[in-house]
Amino acid sequence: MLNTRPTNCGYPVSLLSYTNEVHQTNQLLFVLIKGIFHIEIIKICFKIYFDNESKKLYTEYKNEGLVMLKEYEDHVQEREKLGIPPLPLSPELTKEVCEKLENPANQKEQDYLLYLLKERVAPGVDPASKVKAEWLNKVATGEVKSPAVSAEDAVDILGTMLGGYNVQYLVELLKDDQLGKKAAEALKTTILVYDAFDDVLKLSKSNSNAKEVITSWAEGEWFTSKPDFPKEMKLKVYKVEGEINTDDFSPAKHAWSRPDIPMHALAMGESRFPEGNETIKKFREEGYKVAFVGDVVGTGSSRKSACNSVMWHIGEDIPNVPNKRNAGVVIGGLIAPIFFNTTEDSGGLPVMCDVTGMNTGDVIILDFEKGEVRKDDGTVLTNFELKPKTLRDEYKAGGRLNLIIGRSLTNKARSALGMDESDLFIKPDNPKPKPGQAYSLAQKIVGKACGEAGVLPGTSCEPKMTTVGSQDTTGPMTADELKELACLKFQTDLFMQSFCHTAAYPKSADVKMHKSLPDFITEREGVALKPGDGVIHSWLNRLLLPDTVGTGGDSHTRFPIGISFPAGSGLVAFAGALGFMPLDMPESVLVKFKGELNPGITLRDVVNAIPYFAIQEGLLTVEKAGKKNIFNGRIVEMEGLPDLTVEQAFELTDASAERSAAGATIKLSEESVAEFLKSNIALMKKMIEDGYQYADTLKKRIEDCEKWLEKPALLERDKDAEYAAVLEIDLNDIKEPILACPNDPDDVKLLSDVAGTNIDEVFVGSCMTNIGHFRAAGKIWEGEKYPQTRIWVTPPTKMDEAKLKEEGYYSIYSQIGARVEIPGCSLCMGNQARVRPETNVLSTSTRNFDNRIGDGAQVYLGSAELTAITGLLGKLPSVDDYMDIINKKVTPNKEEIYKYLEFDKMGKVKLTYS
Ligand code: SF4
Repeated sequence: MLNTRPTNCGYPVSLLSYTNEVHQTNQLLFVLIKGIFHIEIIKICFKIYFDNESKKLYTEYKNEGLVMLKEYEDHVQEREKLGIPPLPLSPELTKEVCEKLENPANQKEQDYLLYLLKERVAPGVDPASKVKAEWLNKVATGEVKSPAVSAEDAVDILGTMLGGYNVQYLVELLKDDQLGKKAAEALKTTILVYDAFDDVLKLSKSNSNAKEVITSWAEGEWFTSKPDFPKEMKLKVYKVEGEINTDDFSPAKHAWSRPDIPMHALAMGESRFPEGNETIKKFREEGYKVAFVGDVVGTGSSRKSACNSVMWHIGEDIPNVPNKRNAGVVIGGLIAPIFFNTTEDSGGLPVMCDVTGMNTGDVIILDFEKGEVRKDDGTVLTNFELKPKTLRDEYKAGGRLNLIIGRSLTNKARSALGMDESDLFIKPDNPKPKPGQAYSLAQKIVGKACGEAGVLPGTSCEPKMTTVGSQDTTGPMTADELKELACLKFQTDLFMQSFCHTAAYPKSADVKMHKSLPDFITEREGVALKPGDGVIHSWLNRLLLPDTVGTGGDSHTRFPIGISFPAGSGLVAFAGALGFMPLDMPESVLVKFKGELNPGITLRDVVNAIPYFAIQEGLLTVEKAGKKNIFNGRIVEMEGLPDLTVEQAFELTDASAERSAAGATIKLSEESVAEFLKSNIALMKKMIEDGYQYADTLKKRIEDCEKWLEKPALLERDKDAEYAAVLEIDLNDIKEPILACPNDPDDVKLLSDVAGTNIDEVFVGSCMTNIGHFRAAGKIWEGEKYPQTRIWVTPPTKMDEAKLKEEGYYSIYSQIGARVEIPGCSLCMGNQARVRPETNVLSTSTRNFDNRIGDGAQVYLGSAELTAITGLLGKLPSVDDYMDIINKKVTPNKEEIYKYLEFDKMGKVKLTYS
């Protein structure tokens, strides 16, 4: 019989290449030398025996000319050359597999087809899953016959599909005399049932199978049936020294392949630890479970793809879920908060402890009972505490999100049966508020989203997610996660998808995504933008409601009104699908501004003043070794600039990402927020008129904005609210521009310290910019000649583009030879256009991590005004030269330049220039 057992690569051993044989023989010898009684040897011997056996069968199978699904086979071979499994089956291939299973040519074909059906179809509400569930139901009900799949088998296979399209059929089958018991068994471990819970509950009044299911859910059998959390784990260490950011795990230039986890994982570490993937593979082939160890792990963007890649290399296959792994162990001296959460959500185990005694190749024991890390010779290397307390349950459940969904199903069933809340699960130790407890602004906003007066730091809570954003390099992954979560309709009030990261220079995978993703989003009643519309945040901010909470799959999702907690695509999908999100409430740091801005000083200088003054106060260090960062994982709460427009305020909240903060708030006046909302209502009405979908979702948001405007009121912090630190900044003390220097957003310096540095390219664009910045740059460039410097200009949205064209600024940009890009992220993301390698750059964008916007580029970050002047001069100006140009060209035109887009005051609003 053909061996269809999946291998470590996730595809059947029958499809492995013969070229591995020599390697496998060496591997066998190597392991034999290490110790004949070692259990890993036995496992490997079995694997090699069966792999070789199945290859023999597969060759026979091919020689007999029985290969079906020819195109798929070619694809399998192509991927095999790369050492990765094929993509999951498309709906068309799934249909073909099902049809062929009704009349397979012989046993070998039958076994192979069955393997494909069971293991290679994505679960949940993937379209292929729909085809699979429909066919299995036909087999179960006798409408279709297959020699390979009996009616009972069909119910069993339906039970492995996690939820979604299989659920309705299983619920119906509960009524079947023959198959009802089996259907009940299948549903007992299915937790993604959503509204079908009510159907099962109703049926349980008259149907014993349904009653069994409800009882099982109430007793948490979906959880108790899983293996217990281990007492200890034996692991082989793969360690990377220093800081490993998410771009090291998931390089931006490979963003196109993110949804294809095995393919994307090939690029893991390519510039930071290029030998890593091979070393990990070797350790695994020796039979070890591998721990990824680093000093500082997962800083930078909130990339789920980073975690996916790590899990792919160190994790375990998930039965019936193609091309995805979990249960990997990540050990870090420090693990960045979002990466930590993403690992929890991915069913991995993040452990923070002293890693100085661990080196690549060490075999260690993680002893969870004693909380110690030992070498295999018994030497204790360090101690650790598993945090959060619920981590054991999360790991056992296959991830934090599984645990939340399953736990809520159990409690729902218990409540329906009149039982108390289950004590099966570990409960978090939430801090208790004191009488008259004072709360910060962020604590009040999150409290409101949880139905409480406030939420104290350290509280594990589940705030309502009013707005969720998704951008295009993570969008396809979010879509996959939504399918896995069996989401057919968003429960969040507003889910918005942008195309800003891929619109300018789409790869063929992007083109496909531009066509398919909008429908996927709008079918679920989300709002889809269009390629070329512009940057996610410049749009999403315009769809917000005051004092509400949201999230987004882009680490710069930093609402200027309300608060957002950016997250990986798994959590974003969860927030979109379920309308709430798990959150361990972070502490806050208060940044208090006072005084007045000096002439020539911009908001970007204020942004850079935060790290500048934090360094002076000893709250932040630039050095990586023993780095101090008071903002890391905390909420930055800013006040003292109440008259900012909301568009301006975003420059400050946006930059909280560079501080590695979990979120940010800014106290604004009700007038500023009201102005913004009125403008946004006009924009949303125009979107509906122009055919943007899902129109009802936009209508509902307009209604909610109008409701707020009827009685404008904003939450305010209590006077006695407590903060991890308070940083006071007197704006009068900022006397010259401040820049972030290469290549660290925390390495801020005064302009006078770096004046005269040659600059080859400048970029005015990104979500840090608004229309005022482009007008200011235009005024500085007006009447000037082509400079030597390459100048890039990218307005954030098409509305900015239209207005700038209307006001004649585009002709100024062309006069000085600027390369003007379509609205979107452009250079900022570095996955599309890039600066020339090894150049010096001044940019208005958000980040300047190594290689982000150009290989070996040295990137300074500063204001649009400074960037425009530098573009003309080809070097960073002296403070006097800077002030001189500002006084001549910007200050006299201030009123005209710093005027923001007020769609409600534009008469007939147009979204484009035409
Ligand atoms: S402009 Fe830059 S920071 Fe902003 S969303 Fe795009 S890539 Fe991210």
